[in-house]
Amino acid sequence: MIEPTLIPPADGERITLRNGRLHVPERPILPFIEGDGTGRDIWRASVRVLDAAVAKAYAGNRKIAWMEVFAGEKAFQQFGTWLPESTVSAFRDFLVGIKGPLTTPIGGGIRSLNVALRKRLDLYVCLRPVRYMPGVPSPVLHPEKVNMVIFRENTEDIYTGIEFEEGTPEARRFLDILREQFPKEYEKIRFPGSSAVGVKPVSREGTERLVRAAIQYALDNRRRSVTLMHKGNIMKFTEGAFRNWGYAVAEREFGERVYAWSQWERTKSARGEAAANAEQKSALEAGRLLIKDAIADITFQQTITRADEFDVIACPNLNGDFLSDALAAQVGGIGIAPGGNINYVTGHAVFEATHGTAPKYADLDKVNPGSLILSGEMMLRYLGWREAADRILLGMEGAIAAKTVTYDFARLMSGAREVKCSEFGDAVIEWMDRKPEAKKAAPAVRKPVAKKVARKTVMKVKGKKKRKK
Ligand code: NAP
Repeated sequence: MIEPTLIPPADGERITLRNGRLHVPERPILPFIEGDGTGRDIWRASVRVLDAAVAKAYAGNRKIAWMEVFAGEKAFQQFGTWLPESTVSAFRDFLVGIKGPLTTPIGGGIRSLNVALRKRLDLYVCLRPVRYMPGVPSPVLHPEKVNMVIFRENTEDIYTGIEFEEGTPEARRFLDILREQFPKEYEKIRFPGSSAVGVKPVSREGTERLVRAAIQYALDNRRRSVTLMHKGNIMKFTEGAFRNWGYAVAEREFGERVYAWSQWERTKSARGEAAANAEQKSALEAGRLLIKDAIADITFQQTITRADEFDVIACPNLNGDFLSDALAAQVGGIGIAPGGNINYVTGHAVFEATHGTAPKYADLDKVNPGSLILSGEMMLRYLGWREAADRILLGMEGAIAAKTVTYDFARLMSGAREVKCSEFGDAVIEWMDRKPEAKKAAPAVRKPVAKKVARKTVMKVKGKKKRKK
């Protein structure tokens, strides 16, 4: 095993965190992992788009100083390790970076390089915006109603990796301890002799920092609501606690800026349902952010049937994993679904394509680079380079609306012009220069509150038949 020597670009500077705020120089050094398989294709297309957006937005006064770091197959072939220590150090030292997809090594050692990076840097938020771009092929009737941002907890839950394989001495020992120490729980296991076992830790601290980040994001971006999605009706002390801790942090730390359904419940118990509804209505009319909750299974259904009733969604790890990709399917699938892994306290962030390496298409210059391009857009926005990020959205929307698309979209669109991965990048760059329409240039605007209050009230007041006007 050889440790790669990384030489930071001489013309670049570090991004730093001062008093909880990122300080981004004109030439920030950003580490990148190009990724395995199709990662090579999509990185080549994406880096040109990101550089073009920055150049156009700031007339050459800002420029990213890219620094390649290694992971996955490329690292293994060159240095004999899947995740060199220097890669983790680079993301730690330079704070913000981006990566393409990585092959998951088969057999012992690291379970997943992505999970390893998230854990090492304590990137506790997996941020997945899900937003429709006109013209994107969609399996639902009204994809334009989809505009959600998922805050998936990224460090806990069943993903912690505490699992014991069936029949191993470890599994037997774990089950023996359970039988001796927790006989009632042990009796609940239907087939103890042939069970594999996993552990699901969900903590107060882990939940609070995730929900705190989701609420702060919602307030900063003038979103309408945060839904705490959970499966607390079954897993009361893990997912149920996620809901309770979430409400508690909302009320305790955000006070008058939010209105939580936990407050609604208390008012209902003390003064009746009408008083609780009136309280919620006036809180939302005053512009407070609604904090509500929903059971995971109904959320999966309602995000399809009533997409416009969901906005920011905060959820534990496993359900968040499922929900992110399920929602992405409504707005174009994983080919264009972006993601970011963020620690809002330390400032560390790694943005990434959310799909895998799609090895059968590797080096064919074929697949959609949209997921990595839009992850770059998220990264630029995170750095505060909004003008460059807006250029990317304009470019993507323009190219897709003109039906200049890669194979995955072309096969679902009539009259599309199928282009290569690199050509799609060219098209995005060309469309960046078009004049933004007024509505596109404006930041996300909060939708009318009064109408929403009525609808939210219907959701909350389950027994009521009439919609409150
Ligand atoms: P995958 O690479 O995501 O590919 C599955 C299918 O998704 C592809 O066959 C293709 O569908 C579609 N697809 C993926 N990327 C696309 C793109 N850029 N544009 C258009 N369509 C795209 O999943 P996989 O084959 O299960 O996994 C391959 C490897 O990637 C594994 O080693 C896995 O562990 C790893 N992986 C890595 C990450 C990550 O690094 N974040 C995430 C997931 C998986 P069609 O063939 O129908 O066109």
